[in-house]
Amino acid sequence: MNQQYDAPVTIQGISLLELTEQYGTPLYVYDASKIKSQFELLTSAFSTVSLKVKYACKALTNIAVMRMMREWGCGVDTVSIEEVMIAMRAGYSPSEICYTPNCVDFSEIEHAVELGVRINIDDLSMLEKFGHRYGNTVPCCVRFNPHILAGGNPHIQVGHIDSKFGISVYQLRHLLRIVENHSLNIVGVHMHTGSDILDPATFLRGAEILFETARSFPNLEFIDFGSGFKVPYKEGDYSTNMMEFGAVMSEAFRNFCNEYGRELEIWFEPGKFLVSEAGYFLVKTNVIKQTVSTLFAGVNSGQNHLIRPMFYDAYHHITNISNPDGTPRVYSVVGYICETDTFGWDRKIAEIREDDILCMHNAGAYGFSMSSNYNSRLRPAEVLIHNGEASLIRRRETLEDILRTQEL
Ligand SMILES: *Cc1c(COP(=O)(O)O)cnc(C)c1O
Repeated sequence: MNQQYDAPVTIQGISLLELTEQYGTPLYVYDASKIKSQFELLTSAFSTVSLKVKYACKALTNIAVMRMMREWGCGVDTVSIEEVMIAMRAGYSPSEICYTPNCVDFSEIEHAVELGVRINIDDLSMLEKFGHRYGNTVPCCVRFNPHILAGGNPHIQVGHIDSKFGISVYQLRHLLRIVENHSLNIVGVHMHTGSDILDPATFLRGAEILFETARSFPNLEFIDFGSGFKVPYKEGDYSTNMMEFGAVMSEAFRNFCNEYGRELEIWFEPGKFLVSEAGYFLVKTNVIKQTVSTLFAGVNSGQNHLIRPMFYDAYHHITNISNPDGTPRVYSVVGYICETDTFGWDRKIAEIREDDILCMHNAGAYGFSMSSNYNSRLRPAEVLIHNGEASLIRRRETLEDILRTQEL
């Protein structure tokens, strides 16, 4: 078995089992060195162009993580005014923050403009309002939908023709009329299709559409290609070959800049790529339940804490870190929520005994940040391992946290 998919024992020398003894379960644990190496891989793949990385912080919205990334020179991409405020609490200056809202009240955009955050507008009605309110006094970026479908999980794609995201490239003329009427200063063009970058050439076809669109805007400072970086979730999974992608994409970008007549910045907004593999979600086995057809391992968590398997049909590898050398058996790992909340069907896992700690892999992205209090369950604690030390970066919730906003 590939190392990455074996039950992890220690991270930076720190025992995961000991962490569960110290902080309890369920517990999210993040390995800062993995986030750092992913960031460095991206920056080295694009070392020949002027790259800016904007971490899509909705993937893992923890101030400690964001503060650390900021120290590395990584910017941040936000999708709500609340995320903007959190990024500022993490020490980001407004100019390092990019705000890409969809279907929000215009007052949120006004608020972000007042703060001095870079605004990315993704619909024509909003662009009209923006133009009416600010004219050419506030530069902005526009989000296009290039309508490319490059494969990947259909639950996550946002570039299809009836997607609610972005302004269709087919509406370019209409958009240009709005830009002209209000003398808007468009300094960036953006796309984020949600499609996986399986093959650089396929992604490049989408990029070409954005280059084509970019030619209509003479004041550009950057082109933002969103995300789409794929990370492996299970053995044999394809992941984006970053060095190859960087080489191909950088060359296309340099060619575009030559033709455009000015050197622009190239932006990416990875979420999953930076934090997914760095995260481990540790849960305790409450019961081993043998039914007539299935062997269940029921754990002290559920879709309230990690919704991706039920929501996106996502695969999260599961290992037994309490008994890694046990004889493998086939289990369905399920949660304690009053829903069918299955973490994994028919998984071959080293023999699970009651009280064993199971580890869900790839839990760094859209794990905690998509968690809820459904069934009035408390949300887990989060621990960050950085420079060989573990620190609690979010304490476990208490019942009081849930009751705080209710009339008692
Ligand atoms: C969510 C999001 C991203 C990040 O997507 P990943 O798949 O996590 O890399 C980037 N840009 C925008 C606008 C997003 O909404």
